[in-house]
Amino acid sequence: MLGDCHIHMILDGVYYRAAIDHHKEKPDEGLIRQRLSDYAARGITYLRDGGDAWGVGLLASKLAAEYGITYRTPAFNICRAGHYGCFIGKGFSDFSEYKALVGEVRSLGGHFIKIMVSGLMDFDRFGVITDTPCSYELCHDMIAYAHDRGLAVMAHANGDEAVSDALRAGVDSIEHGAYLSDETLHLLAETEAVWVPTAVTIANLIGEGRFPDAVLAPLLELHLGNVSKAASFGAKLALGTDAGAYAVYHGEAVAQEACLLRNAIGNGADEILRQGERSIQEKF
Ligand SMILES: [Zn+2]
Repeated sequence: MLGDCHIHMILDGVYYRAAIDHHKEKPDEGLIRQRLSDYAARGITYLRDGGDAWGVGLLASKLAAEYGITYRTPAFNICRAGHYGCFIGKGFSDFSEYKALVGEVRSLGGHFIKIMVSGLMDFDRFGVITDTPCSYELCHDMIAYAHDRGLAVMAHANGDEAVSDALRAGVDSIEHGAYLSDETLHLLAETEAVWVPTAVTIANLIGEGRFPDAVLAPLLELHLGNVSKAASFGAKLALGTDAGAYAVYHGEAVAQEACLLRNAIGNGADEILRQGERSIQEKF
């Protein structure tokens, strides 16, 4: 059974503000145990969290062994102050603050570093990414600093430039990765980085009425087409759902993502996904 290489234990797939508020005073251990127990019942034994600033993923990582689950967390995600990701993680304004945050991740018992190097797909406008991506130089320095401390780096990255920069800077996994060019997909295949496409975050919006299907349908088609190309180029790919994101529910999203990726990759999909997950388990 494949694990889920990208979840957010703190979020619920409904409304992020309310979900975060629910754990703000102190992480709701009962709810975390319920989710871990549900993952275990589905045969899922590996989970990698995207982090949160309220200790929810950290508590989950401490409880997970009781459910036979290996759980990895970055503690919280690290983002540029004022940019995408600060709603759930911690921001820095200069490199000395970044270094301090990496130190905090280590002292809290985080297993790796999660950085945000771009914004989100704009689901209202095909081809558009929200926010400005971080520069290659900053991306490189953030990754090198984490690697020097023995920590792998998971990067939230959308858009061809952001992903290409992160790959050239030596990132260990690319999360989401919307709008990649063939050149970047080849670059992906030449590196040891694993791509976690989280296609279900797009697929589950279709027909919801929140964003235009006229944008979502071609976006999903392009994304899955890129998954197919990446696999044929020999790139590493792993299953991750971004569970907790809007309309992506813990546990059930794993089978949904598996179905999307299997259809896109075709023959040998499960072996490719198993290998990708193994690479993630080794590094993270
Ligand atoms: Zn995420």
